Amino acid sequence: MNKERKLIIAGNWKMNKTVAEATDLVEALDRDLGTQTDVDVVVCPPFTALDTVSAKLKNSLIKVGAQNMSENDYGAFTGEINAGMLRDLRVHYVILGHSERREYQKESDALINAKTKAALTAGLKPIVCVGETLAQREANETESVVGQQIAGSLAGLDAEQLKDTVIAYEPVWAIGTGKTASSEQAQEVHAFIRSEINKSHGEEVAKAVRIQYGGSVKPANAEELLGQPDVDGALVGGASLEARSFSDIINNTRN
Ligand code: PEP
Repeated sequence: MNKERKLIIAGNWKMNKTVAEATDLVEALDRDLGTQTDVDVVVCPPFTALDTVSAKLKNSLIKVGAQNMSENDYGAFTGEINAGMLRDLRVHYVILGHSERREYQKESDALINAKTKAALTAGLKPIVCVGETLAQREANETESVVGQQIAGSLAGLDAEQLKDTVIAYEPVWAIGTGKTASSEQAQEVHAFIRSEINKSHGEEVAKAVRIQYGGSVKPANAEELLGQPDVDGALVGGASLEARSFSDIINNTRN
């Protein structure tokens, strides 16, 4: 696939996989994908499996991401994990503002912005998630909702920080539902996001920043979605839990 930006495909394992199961999955992925250089591949296990997965992928091109982190440094924040602790486990990426956290943990754009800045300061690359609900899409609010999330979550980032940030467009109605945005719907919102970055940070940054699509991506639809000019990769939930389907998604984009 001839793309303007290098594709980045990340697997969000959510609250799945014991350490033993994570080990099996990552060993199989490393066998299938660990030496390919066409696509940046990231796996995001739960915190409990990060150390083991990082160790298994020590000599692999597959990178490790976390699914969340605290906006704070050290101190009295029971149950929290900070960016430095993730770096200590050789973690390179962190998913921030996933719609499940926006909904269940009531994460706001301001909080996601604070986490994004903390991640970048520590040398982690944030994967910042945005996306509208079905009701918002049906009310024609997709652009205003996504525009606000982009402005709020990425406020105050300079050009270099934004280039290190990955944006994941994940329409909430397409996550875990089997309903995928059509490639036209995805391209339309991705182009809108890129135009917003162009307005705020200029053309060079807008051309460099990678925007993933997420929402029921599978081997059968990956090639078509990722073939769109402004779609630079995928954030994959369900289909990243098995080595075969995740590597098929990646391999289907490599021809
Ligand atoms: C996700 O949760 O980031 C996601 C895209 O999930 P799924 O692929 O299962 O829709």
